[in-house]
Amino acid sequence: MNLYADRISVLGTESAFKIGDDIRQCEEMGVSVIKLNLGEPDFTSADNINEEAINEIRKGNTHYTDPQGIPSFRKSIAQHVHETRGVPVNPAQVVVTSGAKPPISYTMMSYVNPGDEVIYPSPGFPIYESWVTFLGAKPVPLHLEESKGFRFDANDLEKLISPATKLLIINSPSNPTGGVLTEQDLRDIARVIKDKADENVRIFSDEIYEDIIFDERKHVSIMSIPGMAERTVMVSGHSKSYAMTGWRLGYAVVPTVDEAMIFRQFNINIISCTPPFIQEAGTAALEKPENKAIVASMVKEFEARRNLVVEALNQIEGIRCVMPEGAFYVFPNIGGVCEKLGIIEAYNNLSTKLQANTSPSSLFQMFLLYHHGVATMDRKSFGTIGSEGQHYLRLSTATSMELLQEGIRRIALASEDRKGFQEYIDRGEHFYLGAS
Ligand code: PMP
Repeated sequence: MNLYADRISVLGTESAFKIGDDIRQCEEMGVSVIKLNLGEPDFTSADNINEEAINEIRKGNTHYTDPQGIPSFRKSIAQHVHETRGVPVNPAQVVVTSGAKPPISYTMMSYVNPGDEVIYPSPGFPIYESWVTFLGAKPVPLHLEESKGFRFDANDLEKLISPATKLLIINSPSNPTGGVLTEQDLRDIARVIKDKADENVRIFSDEIYEDIIFDERKHVSIMSIPGMAERTVMVSGHSKSYAMTGWRLGYAVVPTVDEAMIFRQFNINIISCTPPFIQEAGTAALEKPENKAIVASMVKEFEARRNLVVEALNQIEGIRCVMPEGAFYVFPNIGGVCEKLGIIEAYNNLSTKLQANTSPSSLFQMFLLYHHGVATMDRKSFGTIGSEGQHYLRLSTATSMELLQEGIRRIALASEDRKGFQEYIDRGEHFYLGAS
């Protein structure tokens, strides 16, 4: 008898959490590591938000609460979504969750049967692919291309929609590419959905980076395109906009109250509720006027760092980096470095078993970490299916200008270090995250 259920073998992960062990190991070996792997703002939550939670705890607001989310917070979310998307939202359509991650699984479990097709962006947030395979659905990656600034258009989507399509996931601004869909892209995408997809196909729109957008652009949601709010599960939260990742606060806005009841029931089954003092702090984040300026100054800093990083990376021979329009990541193409250092050749010479666990960009990621002290994320961390031959890294700009400059200086050194790379391969260690 097996200890684990069969489905455990297809449960994916988010390597952004896994890399911590390798970083610790490097640091124990005496390597100073510049952490460009971080998926969270390096800012802390604002004092006015912190105070709100502390006061609520002191008042004794520390009990179970409405599993769907406290009504005043849901009202505040509904108002925020109305103001920013131009679509009226009934607070009964809102479900509060512990972070923006739970609605991914709630959506898959609510709408997708085994064998149904789910279209999702690749490279994309890895939890999408993880849940598709875990539920026995068919993964249909929508490959985002560098040549299109990692946006996709209606034609790319049209080719993938079939009678078996049940769910379509979009994420703008995107993790890991920073790509942003324009209003015109969304209009074209909406037209294809209306023409080709059954009306019971839901769109999961992950808008967690809604505020982190550059060059005076404004976030546009697919919800705002006529006829789309009726089909869209829109998800966002406080993790990125208000630098509240550890608070675990997010929400879904679903098309109908019936669907909200299903999501509510998942909360009841899994978490019971989100802590009430955290929801009160979340209300303060949305409603206190001073938070607008706090968010704006964080975004301005991310924009300045993006400018610096993209320019510096493009000066390294073998690296090419498009200018992201949102989020706090850059996603350089490292194909030239993979050629230059002999990484592709080294990968081709590995055993089939090792090849299955790594990739050329993973080898460069681990070489960078263990030999040059820079932590990044490899292409494979953002969806594996069909990622062969794509040589990219994700660098996060959620760290200071000084550390970013030092990190890029080290990447430039690593990209010339053919001898060091050969030694790394000869040593035969650390070919992928968690490998010894
Ligand atoms: N979606 C995307 C695209 C993300 O990048 C993240 C966090 N890295 C999440 C969802 C999950 O957010 P949270 O931490 O609020 O659960």
